[in-house]
Amino acid sequence: MTISQLFLPISRISLSIYRVFPSINSCNSTSLSPIKTNRGAVVFIKPIEKPLRLRKLEALARRIPYNRPKRQEILQKLYRIEAGYSGEKSLHYYLTQKAGRQYRIFHSIKLHTLNHDFRMDFLLVHRTHLMILEIKNISGTLRFEPDRHQVIWTKPDNTIKVLPDFYLQAVIQMEHLTNWIEEAGLPQIPVKPLVVISNPNCRLDIPPQYNNHPSIKNMVRSANLPSRLSYELSRHSKSVFSISALESLILQQHKQDDQCILNETGVHPSELITGVLCSVCVNKTMIKQRYHWLCKHCGKTTRNPHLETLIDFSLLIKPLITNNEFRWFAEVGSASTAKYLLKELNLPITGHNRGRTYSLSDLTNSSPENPHNSLS
Ligand SMILES: [Zn+2]
Repeated sequence: MTISQLFLPISRISLSIYRVFPSINSCNSTSLSPIKTNRGAVVFIKPIEKPLRLRKLEALARRIPYNRPKRQEILQKLYRIEAGYSGEKSLHYYLTQKAGRQYRIFHSIKLHTLNHDFRMDFLLVHRTHLMILEIKNISGTLRFEPDRHQVIWTKPDNTIKVLPDFYLQAVIQMEHLTNWIEEAGLPQIPVKPLVVISNPNCRLDIPPQYNNHPSIKNMVRSANLPSRLSYELSRHSKSVFSISALESLILQQHKQDDQCILNETGVHPSELITGVLCSVCVNKTMIKQRYHWLCKHCGKTTRNPHLETLIDFSLLIKPLITNNEFRWFAEVGSASTAKYLLKELNLPITGHNRGRTYSLSDLTNSSPENPHNSLS
């Protein structure tokens, strides 16, 4: 038998393999990788990282076929979250200026209080006060109508959408955080909500009568963030408590966004494009050759593209994989080749023989920025 014969066209076997995976419908989350803290110059206690939810949507967009009606909806969701993350990333420069370095900074923190989860784009911790930053990365024009708790967004294509008051969103987070601190038995500390407009090209239309409204006074553009932080630092002088207890508690109670993206979007695993995807051609799969994988569409060869396939499986299905599941998802026809490919990666293993499962958590957490090309 030649190597190529080892890899049967998966279309003939994928469905039958799929049927043997009743557990495949259940999504499990990957665990949060340990967060390194540095008490020296580093101000980011939880650094700016691509959100897991965004990675899951990217994986789904790669693997949802063009002809699925849900594809457009998934891409819209992806672009929205991508824009949010891009705005948050753009704050790195401003947060590492002199004033920002006075704070201990947490990116994308999700906590739970009074039966509610609440997420903060950034939480800035100082021994005298806390700041919640709500980041808005929006193009076009924003007209603020705080008395009506709304913002009228005119998009670059001149369509109009009504958005909820940004400041009110940040105030709700402030209330949740205050409750959370009380529940934790920590002393109360002033919490300041601030809206940051991260897109410098966004036009702000503020009727003069609202100039002194809290929704407007507590909103800055990114470039003004350092001076606003300096101002807040000068306003607060009373040291409330040692921040280390609060920092540890935040990290300990932070909830990873573990929602199953297939359940959320109503996509069944059998709808996904299986196989090892080419990083150049969107939605096209590669075939295994003796020493590498080949894309027949563009001729690209790669040695280990199946690592990305395993990461996609982990993001979309679950963080553990069996030999059979790998054969289905990566379209590997032979059990022995699948075993060889999995064994080669030295993944943590549990169980024996047919019940053996390989943990993909470390693999997935070690490459948060996926090298796949962007989608079009
Ligand atoms: Zn290709």
